[in-house]
Amino acid sequence: MLKIGSHVSISGGLLGAAKEAYSYGASTFMIYTGAPQNTKRSPLENLKIKEGQAFMKAHGLSDIVIHAPYIINLASYKEETYNLGKEFLALELERTEAIGSNYLVLHPGSFTDKTYEYGVERIAAALNEVLTPETKPIICLETMAGKGKEIGRSFEELRDIIDRVELKDKIGICFDTCHVHDSGYDIVENLDEVFAEFDRIIGLDRLKVFHVNGSLNPRGAKKDRHANLGALEDNPKGKDHIGKEALYKLVHHPVAEGKPIILETPWLDKKTNLYKEEIAYLRGEEK
Ligand code: FE
Ligand code: FE
Ligand code: ZN
Repeated sequence: MLKIGSHVSISGGLLGAAKEAYSYGASTFMIYTGAPQNTKRSPLENLKIKEGQAFMKAHGLSDIVIHAPYIINLASYKEETYNLGKEFLALELERTEAIGSNYLVLHPGSFTDKTYEYGVERIAAALNEVLTPETKPIICLETMAGKGKEIGRSFEELRDIIDRVELKDKIGICFDTCHVHDSGYDIVENLDEVFAEFDRIIGLDRLKVFHVNGSLNPRGAKKDRHANLGALEDNPKGKDHIGKEALYKLVHHPVAEGKPIILETPWLDKKTNLYKEEIAYLRGEEK
């Protein structure tokens, strides 16, 4: 059985999130602890954690994933941004644990006006400050698409960070199919080779979470725009350049076995998403 779900809203607390995920036929899900673009967070007491956990248990939902907000940039040279990022990351780790999740997904950061080396050192220093032997959740650095100055656009760049982290057992990787494709890896024709390369450079034991998305752009475009799985030209959000067959193969690959697989595919409009259909397709239940 695939452990599969989508990003869902936290606006109704963990209980609301779990109910939404269940309505899509999911067995796991991902949430931000508040708005992805800011650091405003409602207190944990308001998140209906106990009720959410009880609902999850009763409905076969587990191994959920938390995504840290985009505004954390641990590569920033601006003291204010950097310090805010570290403080907020420490709080996110606490919230992740309180919610009962083992995985906090984090975009490594962007080196903006500085150099790549500067950014990597800065990220690692921040992680070394925030992580303690008592930290329970694993920070999953996400593979990035390579737009702008973002770090993590290759397996080597992610390894450069991990190499500098002291508590390495607290670091994992979130493998985003849109990002990996956009950064140039051929997951359509050469998936086995991509996983083998990941294993050589990072080690597959670090791969903890998958984000499964199509891409609106050809391989290597470095854009990061998600597409619905196998979307054709007539999809309002645009055509998928990865294709649903490749993504189906990926989620059924032995490397993905037992790991949370999260859809971050676009909504067609304010009320319509395809999570239910996409989950059913990936499970192999599509008629
Ligand atoms: Fe992400
Ligand atoms: Fe992602
Ligand atoms: Zn993305």
